[in-house]
Amino acid sequence: MSDRALRSIAIIGGGTAGWMAAAALARVLGTHNVAITLVESEEIGTVGVGEATIPPIQAFNALLGIDEDAFVKATMGSFKLGIEFVDWLRPGTRYFHPFGVYGTDIGAVPFEGLWHRLRTQGLADPLEAYSICAQAAKDGRFMRPLADGGNTPLHRIGYAFHFDASLYARFLRTHAEAAGVVRREGRVVDVALRAADGFVEAVTLASGARIEADLFVDCSGFRSLLLGETLGTGFEDWSHWLPNDRAIAVPTVSNGPPTPFTRSTARAAGWQWRIPLQHRTGNGYVFSSAHLSEDEATATLLANLDGEPLADPRTLRFRTGRRDAFWVRNCVGLGLSSGFLEPLESTSIHLIQAGIARLLEMLPNRDFEAADIRRYNRLMTAEYDSIRDFIILHFHATERADTPYWDHVRTMAVPETLAERIRIYQATGRVFRESDDLFSKTSWLAVMDGQGLRAEGFDPLAASLSVDDARTRLARIAAVTAAAAARMPPHAEFIARHCAGAIASRT
Ligand code: FAD
Repeated sequence: MSDRALRSIAIIGGGTAGWMAAAALARVLGTHNVAITLVESEEIGTVGVGEATIPPIQAFNALLGIDEDAFVKATMGSFKLGIEFVDWLRPGTRYFHPFGVYGTDIGAVPFEGLWHRLRTQGLADPLEAYSICAQAAKDGRFMRPLADGGNTPLHRIGYAFHFDASLYARFLRTHAEAAGVVRREGRVVDVALRAADGFVEAVTLASGARIEADLFVDCSGFRSLLLGETLGTGFEDWSHWLPNDRAIAVPTVSNGPPTPFTRSTARAAGWQWRIPLQHRTGNGYVFSSAHLSEDEATATLLANLDGEPLADPRTLRFRTGRRDAFWVRNCVGLGLSSGFLEPLESTSIHLIQAGIARLLEMLPNRDFEAADIRRYNRLMTAEYDSIRDFIILHFHATERADTPYWDHVRTMAVPETLAERIRIYQATGRVFRESDDLFSKTSWLAVMDGQGLRAEGFDPLAASLSVDDARTRLARIAAVTAAAAARMPPHAEFIARHCAGAIASRT
């Protein structure tokens, strides 16, 4: 270690962001040379929701050396193959956004090119026929992808998890403390800046205890105690594109085996989530308070549950957008302190993970290289912005005109980056992944098509096959996909065999 190496890191906040950061930093850096302290306040508490994830979380678990079955068991989790969107295009419709891929490319010819070519002639099946995740989800099946070589769709199963957010924080805390992280209970009442350069010098707790560190990680939630409040980092508000600013959440008794997917149902002024866990089901209505009152939203949610409520409904308030910078001087913001995008595509926990991965990649010493900080901010900004576009797509590309809310989101002007993607898709059927995009071609295609956008053309490469050849190949892909999905065990059976937790419903 150079003599300018970091000697201490203080993480402010013990929600999902704080404990993810603590566990990962301790695992990678060790705690012999760098003291890692986490401050949290039970009095303030955590947001405590955040139960659905996306596949990159597998890499985070691997980084921590977490055994996946132990993780699912400890968090009463279930597996997720994608999201079912109900009533989004118009009432009475549904589509599935699967993880993994659709079909397979034929040499240089992209699958979606062939599919668009046949679809325009009425010769292709719906997209879901070519996705092992969509097929398995429909039948309530799950298994992990086969590892050893081979070319069946069973090797290409993409998956993530649903879990109980408070059990997840507890699970990570155990890992972090075992790796040497020191937890300090207490409320931060003051933040001191160094006179010379405005770097964060120390936080003071209500008890009077003062905690100094070289690097501060702000995981203090929506309050953004260091990054926002103390350092005055601006907030770019996106509520003109994403007007939802409230959620009512309520857990219910499970009324059957957990489905291996999240369900999102469009409602009059937002959408309702359904997330199955082993011991209960998570539900919530995310809505725009400019279009619906909390009482109306609560009544709608309670009228649309498929199990008995286990607790009183809880209201969460938020503002969509991101900080102008995520790393300022010696302070990095992770989680809600750095920004928030509604949980439609379960991206918040991923953004925490992405921030941690980049912080490790650009780990500073006490000189805090300005070019690294600029690069970190550039990459995180690009990631936020591209996820923002993907989420806006769901609301904007709809035929719904049944309420003022849907009228607003359907007719609003969208960011030019999204408008361009839509134009390209409508003209050529092409979907693409820019280098920093989180979402794959599968995701863009699933939502573009599911939300009713139609491509007039198709990738010229797809013309290199005859129509008959293309039909034969797509029919074979659909048949192989359906047969492979039928070989997967029921999701509940997979959980019972590998990772059943021990908490009863009603706890
Ligand atoms: P918090 O959970 O708010 O934690 C903040 C911490 O800071 C707490 O420990 C608190 O005690 C501490 N703190 C604050 N002020 C002080 C102080 N003065 N002194 C000491 N400590 C302090 N994400 C997903 O990935 N998937 C989902 O399905 C999902 N669903 C969501 C649904 C809703 C309705 C909402 C609002 C969010 C959802 N999220 C989801 C986002 C997810 O919940 C958060 O990203 C995640 O919980 C991280 O929160 P956090 O740790 O940043 O903040």
